Amino acid sequence: MQYRKLGNTGLKISELSFGSWITFHNQADVDKTYDMMKAAFDAGVNFFDNAEAYALGKSEEIMGEAIKRLGWRRGSYLVSTKLYWGLHDTPLENNTLNRKYLLEGIAGSLQRMNLDYVDLLYCHRADSDTPIEETVWAMHNIIERGQALYWGTSEWEADQILEAIDIADRRNLHKPVVEQPVYNLFQRHRFAGNYHAVYKGKGYGSTTWSPLASGLLTGKYIDGVPEQSRAALPSMAWLKDELIDEAANERVRALLPLAKDMGATLAQFALAWCLQNKSVSSVLTGASRVEQVHENMKALQFVDKFTPDLMAEIDRITGA
Ligand code: NDP
Repeated sequence: MQYRKLGNTGLKISELSFGSWITFHNQADVDKTYDMMKAAFDAGVNFFDNAEAYALGKSEEIMGEAIKRLGWRRGSYLVSTKLYWGLHDTPLENNTLNRKYLLEGIAGSLQRMNLDYVDLLYCHRADSDTPIEETVWAMHNIIERGQALYWGTSEWEADQILEAIDIADRRNLHKPVVEQPVYNLFQRHRFAGNYHAVYKGKGYGSTTWSPLASGLLTGKYIDGVPEQSRAALPSMAWLKDELIDEAANERVRALLPLAKDMGATLAQFALAWCLQNKSVSSVLTGASRVEQVHENMKALQFVDKFTPDLMAEIDRITGA
């Protein structure tokens, strides 16, 4: 495993990390979670990602139980959660980053995870109804209380991140240090345009999500929907059309020989490609079974195999 600096912080984060969206509770119980987290940690992963909204809190409970059983030294790994959607459908607690919700939300997450603090706390989305200043103050207070060590954003517009940093700088508050954006061969918009001012200009870190576009970039949907797959889950019906989209799968098919020439599986190729971007601090992987973790961790051996000609060919195929 290689480690990168998480933006301007002093943290060294593993190039590949491991997250729990969809999988924990829906596809993995505590035993399976234990096996997958152990496989990732043994491969050098030091960051495990979660969110209050994942399986409505159950994902946090499962990760907390697995961490307890794994018995790792707390100093040796990073764990995160994210707040925004809320667990209760009331105007105070739903789709919000208001101070009350954030302070109560972090307390609930820590209880479910059985942890004293999370290392990273993300605002899972931006909230146009709450002044950014209120959110910055709340996150600062959460850090001062020791419930989180650093805070970040997820899927925020570049200008919103710059505003939060500016407010924190002016008030001498803990500022956000990391964004969690979608990033894969087919979805690159969160590193384009004004994000340059965020990553290069401010030294913001990034932990990127859905590097395999939910499995599309493994090639598993070229011939339809495999039984044990994300697209086969009834709860993921909203995503299925994207995963079986013919044009997208044609592009996936065209990438296959490039991966084969490298000696990589398409999943390994797609993961290693994400790490060509030096503004990426860590690529958040996901898995529904331990074999996928083993396969994905081997992506690291291909990171230095992407020549300029190959990058150009990839861009031609993906239409980037
Ligand atoms: P991916 O795009 O990598 O998709 C992971 C899924 O692809 C797995 O669960 C598995 O699904 C399938 N898969 C993975 N590896 C392989 C393999 N080698 N061969 C075949 N199939 C494979 O990542 P996720 O979408 O899961 O996102 C990763 C993490 O990012 C999440 O866990 C979460 O922590 C974070 N995230 C953050 C978001 C945010 O808004 N901040 C949003 C989404 C994710 P299956 O076997 O069921 O087909």
